[in-house]
Amino acid sequence: MTRKTFCVMLTPPGRGAIASVLVDGPRAAEFAGRFFRSAGGKPLAGYALDAIAFGRWDFGPGEDLVACRRSEHRVEIHCHGGQAAVGALLESLAMAGCQTVSWTEWLANQPEDRIQSQAALALAHAPTERTAAILLDQFSGAFGSAINEVLRLLEFSDANSVAAARTSLEALQSRVPLGRHLTEPFLVALAGRPNVGKSSLINALVGYRRSIVSDQPGATRDIVTAATALAGWPVEIADTAGLRPTEDSLEHAGVRRAEQTLRDADARVLVFDASARWSGDDQALVDAWPDALAVHNKIDLPRAAGPTRPAGIDTSTITMAGIDKLADALISRLAPNPPPPGAPMPFRASHFEAIAEAGQCLSHGDLPGALAALRSLL
Ligand code: GDP
Repeated sequence: MTRKTFCVMLTPPGRGAIASVLVDGPRAAEFAGRFFRSAGGKPLAGYALDAIAFGRWDFGPGEDLVACRRSEHRVEIHCHGGQAAVGALLESLAMAGCQTVSWTEWLANQPEDRIQSQAALALAHAPTERTAAILLDQFSGAFGSAINEVLRLLEFSDANSVAAARTSLEALQSRVPLGRHLTEPFLVALAGRPNVGKSSLINALVGYRRSIVSDQPGATRDIVTAATALAGWPVEIADTAGLRPTEDSLEHAGVRRAEQTLRDADARVLVFDASARWSGDDQALVDAWPDALAVHNKIDLPRAAGPTRPAGIDTSTITMAGIDKLADALISRLAPNPPPPGAPMPFRASHFEAIAEAGQCLSHGDLPGALAALRSLL
């Protein structure tokens, strides 16, 4: 079946100085050539690839623009960003026979390289430069090559090659937790009794005032979140409602939500007031969330005497003591083994599932199953 010719708006909708439209398909030059009149009179098809042609779009009132043949089957058109100009361009191309698709549909249907298209989509949602760099490596082929290499080893099917394939799969599997957070933030949940300084700590970590800080215990009634980046990793920090037994039904619901947020979080931080005596409630919180990071806040105030506290990080949101240390501790919990540049990284659910399935199959000696799971990615 002959491929259709698509026209795709590459720039985001809304006002912009320039809009870029891609015509992609076997009849791209023909369709664009129907409307494009170059300033020098030369037909678009006569321009060399990548040469920029200035001219007018001969449709409706007409419009000055530039066109460029990027390959035998791709023409890029750059016109004024106003909606009327773009609308006329798309309308004329649709009349010529182009099918208008969104850039996400267009990418998803690229026949050349599935993982590369997926990486291009993910790149558009990368929240930080660091995650974008990792996704760019995958766009350039890091993950695809790793999968092909594992397939090649499995196809040899001798014991050594299969063992090497398993090692490579395990390495990929170990990157899944980070791969999940190249487009979605990690969730860090803070819990602690009211007034210990949770909101203030979030403000200190994020670098601006975000949640409600109040002298009144119980002021933080619901989950308040703030988005930030720690060492280039996207992180959402949730300030849970103060965890304490309460008669107030509104607060009671908040406490339940707080517990759920803590369960869902990628890292938990329990905040205590270093100037207040260590209490049974404090100990109960530590016992309930044994893997949480303990933070003893308000160390600028005289330290309370009393029972020994669990090991943790001492902070003050007034002097900012310990805030960097807290950020570092969170980073090493969230991303303990950051990948070296160029490393292969799975980055979407279908990758995580296929890697897990292939690993399972190999552990049962099911070579064809492993091959099928991995081939489904390509
Ligand atoms: P939350 O209820 O746990 O979110 O606590 P807040 O962040 O609202 O802080 C409660 C009170 O403690 C506010 O008056 C803050 O200014 C104060 N506070 C927070 N952190 C510190 C700190 O490190 N040192 C001192 N001295 N006061 C703090």
